[in-house]
Parts: sequence; C-alpha cells; structure tokens
Amino acid sequence: MGKSIFVDLTRCTACRGCQVACKQWKNLPGEDTRQTGSYQNPPDLSFPTIRLVRFVETKINGKLEWLFFPEQCRHCYAAPCKSQADAYNEKAMLQDEETGAVYTTPEIMTITGDDIQAVQEACPYNIPRIGPGKKGVSKCDFCFDRITNNMAPACVLSCPTGTMNYGTEEEMLKLANERLVEVKKRYPDATLGDPDNVRVIYLFQTDPKIYYKNAIAEAPTPHTRRELFANLMGK
Ligand code: SF4
Ligand code: SF4
Repeated sequence: MGKSIFVDLTRCTACRGCQVACKQWKNLPGEDTRQTGSYQNPPDLSFPTIRLVRFVETKINGKLEWLFFPEQCRHCYAAPCKSQADAYNEKAMLQDEETGAVYTTPEIMTITGDDIQAVQEACPYNIPRIGPGKKGVSKCDFCFDRITNNMAPACVLSCPTGTMNYGTEEEMLKLANERLVEVKKRYPDATLGDPDNVRVIYLFQTDPKIYYKNAIAEAPTPHTRRELFANLMGK
C-alpha cells in the first residue's frame, strides 16, 4: 500500500500555487517566457519546469468552458519510463517500495543520448524532459524527501481549494470515487484518469482528451509516442 495524490480538477482555479510551490521546494530556476495567446505559462513542461498548470479554452455543448489541468508525473504502478531505463542502468531510475514514488536524481541518472530519448518516449503521458546535451531527464519525484519524512508534497500543501489531496492509495481511491459520484450530478461525462494504474489520479469533469488538447498540440512529441498517448486516452 503506497501513497497517492488525488487531483479534483472541478475545484482547480488555476491559481498556480502548486506550480510555484514546486519550483520553490525543488529550487528550480524560472524560465524566460512570453505571451503566446494563452495563460499557460511556460507553454510546456521542461527540464526546469516539472509541474505545469495547463489552460484549455473550449466549448462544451455550445457553452464556453475554461478547463485547468495541473500536470505532473503520474507515478505509474508499473512505470514504463523505469522499465526502459532499467535496460541501460538499473540504478538510474528508482521506484520506492514503500511509497511507490518513481524518481531519479542528477547523481544517479547516467543515461544519455539516444538512450535517454528512449526513456522519455516510453512515458505514455509525455512527462520526462531531457536535460541539456541529452544528459538525463527531469520529472516530478513525488517530493520524495518530504513524503519519506511524513510531509505532504509541496504542491499539495500549497493548494488552497482542495484540488490537490494526498494520502494512502486506499484513502485517495476512496475519495476519488466519492467525488466522482458527486461531480457526475453536475457533469455527467466526469471520469477518473486511469485510477488502477497510476498514483496521481485526476478527476476530469469532461472527456480527458479535451484537457490534453494543448499538451498534444504543443509538446514536441514524436509520432510513436503520440500514438501511444492517443491509445491510452482511448482516442
Ligand atoms: Fe514514468 Fe511517465 Fe509514469 Fe511518470 S507518468 S512514472 S514519467 S511513465
Ligand atoms: Fe513538484 Fe513535489 Fe508536486 Fe512533484 S510532488 S509536482 S516534485 S511539488
């Protein structure tokens, strides 16, 4: 029984407190950005930005909707990124037995070049970002230092709206299913994102593909990974 995060997207106001808290706790530098026609800023995940609130403006049943999607690594139970990394070095990417966190650090991550590209492409959610010179990848580590010291992840702690929740796998699955029943009264298309396979469980108020619109359009994803991604989302 590991740890999980439940993200109730129906409660997110896109304050980006979680995005800032992640930068602060992980001591990650800011990025030079510019207005690209969206409040999604920076425009995508990157080596120094491992958490990003995505913004999607869309129409649902003829009504304008603004959907917010704080994205991070899902900490898959059977993590494809780790399986791929193990092919090159079994100590470069780790999965903690107690919490289930999937993580790496600059010290242990020795994979480079085409091999690190393969690790990145193994992720069906397009999460890891390759470092300068194709040396290593960065991604959310579930705030491994915090959760192994009985503290909630920084992003969860900073959330003022109840969007981000943290606890045992059992607690989070229970909460997710309870909220799904409640939310469906208002949003009949609401659904949970892959709850049996990941430790970061999203409650989408509508078709998840709509939330991923910007991710698919803007991320520099190779064709093969796009197919994987589309299959996963049932597109
Ligand atoms: Fe790895 Fe991607 Fe799963 Fe995170 S979401 S554990 S990076 S495969
Ligand atoms: Fe960032 Fe920690 Fe949240 Fe991961 S769990 S997104 S590292 S603050």
